Parts: sequence; C-alpha cells; structure tokens
Amino acid sequence: MKISFYSSQPYDITFFENVNKNYRHELFFHDYALNEDTVDLVKNVSCICVFVNDRLTAAVLEKLYSNGVRLIALRCAGFNNIDVVTADKLGITVVRVPSYSPESIAEHSVGLMLSLSRHIHRAYNRVRESNFSLNGLLGFELHNATVGIIGTGQIGTALAKILTGFGSKVIAYDPYPGDECISLGVKYLDFNNLCQQADVISLHCPLTADTHHLINSESLQKMKPGVMLINTSRGAVIDTEAVINYLKNGHIGYLGLDVYEQEENLFFKDLSDQIISDDLFERLLTFPNVLITGHQAFFTEQALTNIADTTLKNVQRFEKNTPCLHCCHL
Ligand code: NAD
Repeated sequence: MKISFYSSQPYDITFFENVNKNYRHELFFHDYALNEDTVDLVKNVSCICVFVNDRLTAAVLEKLYSNGVRLIALRCAGFNNIDVVTADKLGITVVRVPSYSPESIAEHSVGLMLSLSRHIHRAYNRVRESNFSLNGLLGFELHNATVGIIGTGQIGTALAKILTGFGSKVIAYDPYPGDECISLGVKYLDFNNLCQQADVISLHCPLTADTHHLINSESLQKMKPGVMLINTSRGAVIDTEAVINYLKNGHIGYLGLDVYEQEENLFFKDLSDQIISDDLFERLLTFPNVLITGHQAFFTEQALTNIADTTLKNVQRFEKNTPCLHCCHL
C-alpha cells in the first residue's frame, strides 16, 4: 500500500525502510507537519502515517477524506491530536501503536528523577568548567521516597516495577487500578491524597478532557513543599503558567519534563540559530531545578523498531481487510 509520512525525521526513514523489507509497502516521507496549512498537499494516497504534533482537526479530516484517505496510521501511542469522533463519522480508520516499549518511557522518567534528585545536569556543567564544589548539589534518595504515579497503564506499571526495585514506596491514582501494580504492593489512593503524600509525582495518564490541566494551582497547592514533578505523558496535562508560579514561590522543588503544552512549535527541530518567542518555555529554562528533554522518552532502538513493525502491520491488516487490532475510539 502507498503510505505518506508526515513530520518524518531521518531516523523514521531509517527504521521504517529497514522494517518495510518484510512488508513491501510504498513509503513516501515528508518532513513537514500535517495540519490545516498543509493538508492540501496530501494527494494520491489512501493511507497516511502521522506523529504526535501533526494536528488532525475536523477540517483537516474532511479534506483528507475528500482527497481519498481512508486509513490514518499513528506511529505513536497517544491520539489526542486527532478528532477521532469526526474520523469515525467520516469512515476513516485510525490505528495507533498502543504498546511499543513502555520501558523506554519508564526508564526515561527515572532518568529525569535521578538527574534532578542528584543534580546531575548541574554537576555535568560544573565539572567541565573545573568547578568541583559540591555546594548546592545535595541530593535525596529514591529509596524510601514516596513516589506517586498518576495513570498505571503500561508505562505507569513499568515505572512501578523499577521503583519498587529502588525501594521506593509507590502510591498511585488511576480510575482503573491495575492487578499487576496491586501485586507489586502499589497502594492506590484518590487524586487528592496522592498529591498530599507524594515526594515525587510522575504523570502517565493520556491527555483527555478529564486530564487537561490536571496539574493546576489547586492540585499544586495540595502537594508537599519541595515536591518533584515529572511529566512524560502529554504537555497539556500540566498548566504551565501555574507550574511556573509554583516554581517561583519555591513550592515545586524539581520539575522534569519531556513534553510541553506548546511543543509543536519547538520540538523535533533544530532552532539553535533562532530566537525562541515562547516566553513560558524560556522562563522554564531559567530555573536551575528544571530539566527538559524534547519528547525523547520513546527514542530507543527497540522502541523505533517496534513502532515501525506495528505501524506497517496495522496497514497490512487494513489492506487485507482483516479486523483492525489497534483502532482508536473514544
Ligand atoms: P495506557 O493506556 O496503557 O495507560 C494509561 C492509564 O491512564 C490507564 O491505566 C488509564 O486508566 C489511566 N487514566 C485515564 N484517565 C486517567 C485520569 N483521569 N487519571 C489518572 N489515570 C488515568 O497508556 P500508556 O502506554 O501507559 O501511555 C500513557 C501516556 O504516555 C500516553 O497516553 C501518551 O500520552 C504518553 N506517552 C509519551 C511518550 C513520550 O515519548 N514522552 C511515549 C509514549 C506515550
């Protein structure tokens, strides 16, 4: 089947072309994002493959449908960037990669926790400048720390496994508690109690109407002074302005982000020669206790291979009219 890729990066081409030797689809890669400005460029394909910052609104979907697109294959897990209700109404199938390596994101979350708790990001710069002073680098241990996981699906569960190995006390909030977490000894609490008890809070829920700005002034107020907040889920789960206020007043002790509300204007691009006009993002960068990575938690060899394989298999099943395995519905 002919597949047009959007927001494609050199590593997408490498991994997809390699895995495609087993599938023999026709792949066309485009480095620009798919959105209302670019949708008219989609021609002569019935399948497109998109990523986290392509914006498939109702208007984009209607144009895609009239241009003959019948399958949208997301090469990611989250599908908050697609109006799946409109896609359903139009009869466009939307498939995703629900699980490619939950460990890749869980390990990155732990990487952010350890870097922040031991100030490794600051120590790296100091040592390179021959500054071997330890002042300001005093850390704390994850052993015996209370870590709250919000959303214990695949990634949250993989994180709970790592943290129980560290000897952390793991508590969680999820409307649907998981058996695996319960058998690990994870204690489920309601959202407010988790906020009050956790030394570290890590977000692993999807972005939905319910989780949009879940972390806001009201919930931040309930958290322990000095709390560490980690977000590798989706940027808009956090109200960035509220978080900046709580960093300024010292209530948040550490912030680790792999995702950001307005990331589509920044992430996955080299903007090192440009002036960044996003003042909220620039303000975040001024805090010594904030560590930001550009949506790279998924970025491992194992994950990219699995993403390519599941995506191309999803397309093959559609082409052969076999029941869809990873369809997105609300
Ligand atoms: P999953 O579907 O397996 O788990 C999500 C969990 O969140 C479920 O257990 C669900 O019950 C729970 N949940 C739903 N609403 C909630 C709420 N209001 N409060 C608390 N929990 C709630 O998904 P997953 O594979 O674990 O992925 C989680 C999210 O991580 C994805 O939706 C995606 O946004 C994000 N993600 C980020 C990256 C990255 O590179 N940074 C990569 C993959 C996924």
